[in-house]
Amino acid sequence: MARVALLLGGNQGDVKRTLQTAQQLINSRVGAVLRCSHRYESEPWGFPAAQRFSNQALEVSTDLSPLEVLDACQGIERELGRNRAAEAIEKASSGAAYSSRPIDIDIIFYGDEVIDDERLTVPHPLLAEREFALQPLAEIMRRHRHPVTGVTVGEMLDALRNR
Ligand code: ATP
Ligand code: CA
Ligand code: CA
Repeated sequence: MARVALLLGGNQGDVKRTLQTAQQLINSRVGAVLRCSHRYESEPWGFPAAQRFSNQALEVSTDLSPLEVLDACQGIERELGRNRAAEAIEKASSGAAYSSRPIDIDIIFYGDEVIDDERLTVPHPLLAEREFALQPLAEIMRRHRHPVTGVTVGEMLDALRNR
């Protein structure tokens, strides 16, 4: 049994409803949702987009391996309308690294494991740079320490805001 921190986000369609459905599917396929943050609104990060993003952090208790969690989350993204082929076309035409999407599910922490796999890097490598991830995460696990740096989620958020 491991505790996983997930960050959900999206900026297309009925995002509130999509995040609710994603949470239900995570609860049945990944494991019990122990804690969930409120939804936080943020400006698109790394690209221009008409619609703002909503982000929400979850803590989940799981019996799945890290790659099984990734597969389950990517399956849920697809079922909720994420279309990576369409995103690739949008990114190619805009030249940006990111594009709008109805749902994105990132694995932020998997217990205290450090994973550097072709498909999976955990903890999420850009966590310390992203207020939109740290703010919801701090609501549910402010004192949780990054397994590599030893810095807590709350400290990362304060450091980013004071930069
Ligand atoms: P970012 O990771 O910068 O937030 P993104 O979420 O837009 O970018 P995606 O297109 O959703 O990126 O995912 C690209 C690939 O990232 C996925 O196919 C997956 O294999 C890989 N990946 C690596 N580490 C993680 C992680 N911790 N959580 C989710 N996906 C990951
Ligand atoms: Ca992401
Ligand atoms: Ca992602």
